[in-house]
Amino acid sequence: DKKKRIDKILGNMGYGSRSEIKKIVKQGRVTLNGSVVKDSGTQCLPLSDVIEVDGDPVLYREFIYLMMHKPPGVISATEDFREKTVIDLIPDEYLIFAPFPVGRLDKDTEGLLLLTNDGQLAHDLLSPRKHVPKTYVANCIGHIGDDVVEKFKEGVELDDGYVTLPAELQVLEIIDTAEGEKMSRISLTISEGKFHQVKRMFESVGSKVTYLKRVSMGSLELDESLPMGYVRELTESELQAMM
Ligand code: URA
Repeated sequence: DKKKRIDKILGNMGYGSRSEIKKIVKQGRVTLNGSVVKDSGTQCLPLSDVIEVDGDPVLYREFIYLMMHKPPGVISATEDFREKTVIDLIPDEYLIFAPFPVGRLDKDTEGLLLLTNDGQLAHDLLSPRKHVPKTYVANCIGHIGDDVVEKFKEGVELDDGYVTLPAELQVLEIIDTAEGEKMSRISLTISEGKFHQVKRMFESVGSKVTYLKRVSMGSLELDESLPMGYVRELTESELQAMM
């Protein structure tokens, strides 16, 4: 537990700007371990000291971990001039922690997106050396057969010459479309995250992804009961499993 200024803590917790916090301190509304705080620069231990505003305890925490069921049509950046971003879908109570997406999903991709302000965890999950597995389900044009399963296991060459790491492909279902074509419903687990990787892997075998959804990242699985476009905090056990 590191010492922090009380105005900083209250600022992080959404109690207003620095000057607004100065005002509520001046009004005698903030207490630290039961005593009224006189100076908004007072140092305290955010996790062990008891801070109250108007008698209500301020439950401080530094980090937030959110699972989002990303809908298609929003981009996984924090800011954009024109496009709606995943940040626009986050309720204010979480926005005060300034969460950012851990990695990216394409605009048209849906499914599991983790958002946090824990830079260390984000870094670890995205580190190319850690090979955190990510599983997607997709619909692809054509009949994806065992030959493709083998190729993906070996590694395929993408359009820029990069050869992918071994990936695990499962063909879930072959569907006959109304147009008399074949479509394949697949599950693919990759341990890296090149730009448009899943789409480019299927392009390399002459197919095309028409629907893409991420269902897991490391130990974290998309909670299918979480409606699309919504977020929830990770549970204690989900968080423990990722650390
Ligand atoms: N691979 C893709 O092609 N797109 C994504 O959004 C994620 C993985």
